[in-house]
Amino acid sequence: MGYRLASRKEKTGDTIITVGDAVFGGEGFAVIAGPCAVENRDRFLQAALQLKKIGVQMLRGGIFKPRTSPYAFQGLAEEGLDILAEAKRVTGLPVVTEVMDTRDVETVARYADVIQIGSRNMQNFILLKEVGRTRKPVLLKRGLAATIQEWLMAAEYIMAEGNLQVIMCERGIRTFETHTRNTLDVSAIPAIKHLSHLPVIADPSHAAGRWGMVAPLAKAAVAAGADGLMIEVHPNPDEALCDGGQSLTPANFADLLDEIKPVAEAVGRQWGAGAKSLVKKSVI
Ligand code: PEP
Ligand code: MN
Repeated sequence: MGYRLASRKEKTGDTIITVGDAVFGGEGFAVIAGPCAVENRDRFLQAALQLKKIGVQMLRGGIFKPRTSPYAFQGLAEEGLDILAEAKRVTGLPVVTEVMDTRDVETVARYADVIQIGSRNMQNFILLKEVGRTRKPVLLKRGLAATIQEWLMAAEYIMAEGNLQVIMCERGIRTFETHTRNTLDVSAIPAIKHLSHLPVIADPSHAAGRWGMVAPLAKAAVAAGADGLMIEVHPNPDEALCDGGQSLTPANFADLLDEIKPVAEAVGRQWGAGAKSLVKKSVI
């Protein structure tokens, strides 16, 4: 099988991971949103405050960006850490950010509430072990061309080091189709639920690569049983340094949350007033 701790056989009840007001798993449902990258202080704080008002449970923003071209914006690196800290302070929201290098894990773990492992590093086993030695929840994105079995074994690498708080994130896989950036594998959501007790969320932004498709894919993921969503939102997508084409404006994002709410409720997810999800709180 190749994985044990991540398996349903090991634990029949769902793992519920609570970070601030965000609850992933069980009846919980949480929304993470923010720009692809932290571009500068003012823009990130503006986005963070808008998202807080709309009612998200967690902020996202990359400071180490795994760009396909070495000439593309690579992120602010350490310089972005203080901006993440300030956004946390002013909004009271937890933050998730990606780490790409084992040398940065300790520092990132001091600032981030959740550590993201990006698709391109899903099988960077040394990095997986290193985040497994922290006690911060890990958001583990599915590799660009990883099978569900390989993805679960990547989670196992983290868990085998003692960190049992892994949130799986389906972000689209590479197929023959080129109309979209990737193909959202909706079936991965019930598959993970069947094979594992870990929470699984969806990132329709990186799956679609086009902002106009983010809402329908988000609804499909929620209907299929996703425990949450990660959505890219930028105050001005046309000016984004990274992934502007797939980023929603705050107004479109607020509409998306309104559309998702009845879908979430229809599949038994607790969703409080407005976009806030207030669910039974428990920890693993
Ligand atoms: C991201 O979330 O910004 C990102 C780089 O995603 P992925 O690793 O899924 O491509
Ligand atoms: Mn992105």
